[in-house]
Amino acid sequence: MFSFNNSYARLPDRFHASVFPEPVEAPALIKFNTALAKKLRLSIDDPDSGHLTAMLSGNVLPAGAEPLAMAYAGHQFGNFVPQLGDGRAILLGEVVDEDGIRRDIQLKGAGPTPFSRRGDGRAALGPVLREYIVSEAFAALGIPATRALAAVATGEPVYRETPLPGAVFVRVAASHVRIGTFQFFAARGDTEALKTLADYVVDRHYPDLKGTEKPTLALLQRVSDRQAELIARWLGVGFIHGVMNTDNMTISGETIDFGPCAFLDEYDPMKVFSSIDQQGRYAYRNQPGIGQWNIARLAECLLPLIDENEEKAVELANGVLKTFGEHFQAAWLALFVKKIGLSTEDPGDADLVQGLLSAMREGNADFTLTFRRLSALAEALRSGTETLHAEAALLEGFAPWQKAEAWLPQWRERLAREPAGADSAALMRSVNPAIIPRNHRIEEVIAAAVEGDLQPFERLLAALEKPYEDRPEFAAYTEAPTSDQRVLQTFCGT
Ligand code: AMP
Ligand code: MG
Ligand code: MG
Repeated sequence: MFSFNNSYARLPDRFHASVFPEPVEAPALIKFNTALAKKLRLSIDDPDSGHLTAMLSGNVLPAGAEPLAMAYAGHQFGNFVPQLGDGRAILLGEVVDEDGIRRDIQLKGAGPTPFSRRGDGRAALGPVLREYIVSEAFAALGIPATRALAAVATGEPVYRETPLPGAVFVRVAASHVRIGTFQFFAARGDTEALKTLADYVVDRHYPDLKGTEKPTLALLQRVSDRQAELIARWLGVGFIHGVMNTDNMTISGETIDFGPCAFLDEYDPMKVFSSIDQQGRYAYRNQPGIGQWNIARLAECLLPLIDENEEKAVELANGVLKTFGEHFQAAWLALFVKKIGLSTEDPGDADLVQGLLSAMREGNADFTLTFRRLSALAEALRSGTETLHAEAALLEGFAPWQKAEAWLPQWRERLAREPAGADSAALMRSVNPAIIPRNHRIEEVIAAAVEGDLQPFERLLAALEKPYEDRPEFAAYTEAPTSDQRVLQTFCGT
């Protein structure tokens, strides 16, 4: 079914441990992503056959698979752990998709590996569905992320605080190489492996850098730029990753590891959902700063490859690190001015955006609804219909609303200076989603699925397919949670 074309397995032994998935009791297919399968050029005779399910659960090894667990290290909440590695994930192999891009096929929750330490190597149904939903939501939103190929129930319990139904998640990624992969070898002083890994990722992700004068420095710059852009995109949809450890930051620039992640309801820049993030290290607003910190950890690993002269290498790497903040700011501003409908640049725009955010903060306004309602107001302004209704709908979301009301005339004045023919409303709708996977919806899906009802899961996935469109049949998914529905905390592994 997969036309495997494996490259990571060819890397030296110390990059990975060969390991076989451990069969599960009663695999049952929860969801198969047919559209993604097509992109991956998978040949599937019959999606309802037990054969497909057996392969996706790890019970049957597909032909050409070379299952392995990847070695990596990482800073977890700032503390360095020299050996983490895939403790519950098994890379089956790689396929080349219809765009010619090499993609990893990985089973998450398919049993223990040599890197498992204390864990059971399994995954619970809840996190598997969360990862499925958020991955596919990101794909539809156009934000780089790993993808969901399938979710399979194992028919076995996993033991967390209570027994939970188990599942396997089939993840697709441009690669699973992380900052932590470099840290694994740097911590061991294994410069030869670092070189092999750097060459590998340049070949795989940034082939245009091959043969440039300083390819490793260029690689660092590229990864830094990708992460800066990615984090700006997260902020643009109110996303809080929750575990921005260096082992959860890819070299490809894809978002990975949707564990305790969450989306803002009301705008609060210091918001933290994850129960394990006690200090708020990974709060919404801290994400760009942490991104830069993570890139600094990557830079440290790459120093011996950047220049033989250590001082020179440090100087060059610092040059890259300095650009992170600027690059992030530029990406952030470019996105947020679009979110308020501006297609041109004006020196006052950054203040105008900040003015809205500060009104949202003061008015406890829902992040997603505010920008979408502002888009509707822009539409009313454009079409010359009465704007009172749209304005009232927007201000209704603020309590208190005075600051927002005072901001509107400044915004209108700026919109009036947009070039003739600019369609602010359309621009805004293309970057301000109506539907995001709201935390309470994900919780609702998981609660139902644990009881055997997968309908809410299917329905939420359908709602998330076209996040930028107004589709009346999915209107309920645009709504903010009621106080009873509100999710206060997220947890890893449940
Ligand atoms: P993850 O949530 O997959 O990013 O995992 C973080 C670290 O803990 C990685 O080293 C995992 O391999 C390990 N880990 C998490 N859950 C388990 C589990 N159920 N069994 C074995 N290892 C685990
Ligand atoms: Mg992880
Ligand atoms: Mg995790």
